[in-house]
Formats: sequence, C-alpha cells, structure tokens
Amino acid sequence: MSSLPPQRTGPGGAQPGRGPGQQPAKRGMSPKQGAEDAERRLGIPCFHQGQVVSGLFGCVACQFQIRNRKGLPMCPQCGEIIWGYLEDGPRPVPEGEDAPVAPRNEPTPQVTVQDNVDLGGGASQVTVEEGVKLD
Ligand SMILES: [Zn+2]
Repeated sequence: MSSLPPQRTGPGGAQPGRGPGQQPAKRGMSPKQGAEDAERRLGIPCFHQGQVVSGLFGCVACQFQIRNRKGLPMCPQCGEIIWGYLEDGPRPVPEGEDAPVAPRNEPTPQVTVQDNVDLGGGASQVTVEEGVKLD
C-alpha cells in the first residue's frame, strides 16, 4: 500500500503578492532609473532630484522650467523629480559624481601588427585516399 503525497488543489492556486493597488507611482524605479528612462525617451540629458547640476532644466512631466544652481528640487508645479537638461552643449556632470563613462576616453589604435606571419603558399597538403585498390 502506497501513500500518496498530499495534493494541494486550492482554488485559483495563484502566487501570493502582486495584488493591485500596491504600485508606487514610479513603478518601483529609483530616481536614477527614472532619469535614465526619461533620457531615453526624450533624447536629452536627464537628472533627478538631489543631483547637483547647474543650468536650465525643464520638468519632464509639466515642462516647468528652472534655472538650477544647486541640488535639483522636486518640481514645484507637479512634484516630478526628473528634470531634463535644456541647454545645448555637453552633458553636465553632477557635483560629487564621477564623470560619465566616456565611450572612448582612451583611443586605442586599431593597428594590428603581425610579425613573422607565414601567409600560405608553403603549406603542404597530404591527400590520403582510402580504399584504393592496387592491382
Ligand atoms: Zn512638473
């Protein structure tokens, strides 16, 4: 006689959690992720509340513009914390942060020098034939 393991046949059988009404406003994104996301969407450098950058910034939500000199505030108009950099020129580096990772801060020469390369010609090929019938 074998004992079967107990089977759980609960109604629904859904995983716990994931209930509605528990979502934060920013879908769980950190301010940094929010800024990066906005930057991708808008195509301009974006920063978030607390970053110390100076220049002209526009709220990504309501386009409220500020001329910032210290830490970025929360938008006084709508409460957004992501700001787009509206000025031309290079992307400003927030104070206290590392310079952005330059895609090519160290130009590596693409010259390939090969010494003593034997370029073919002398390779001897041996053909082995099997099943050759010799009379
Ligand atoms: Zn705003």
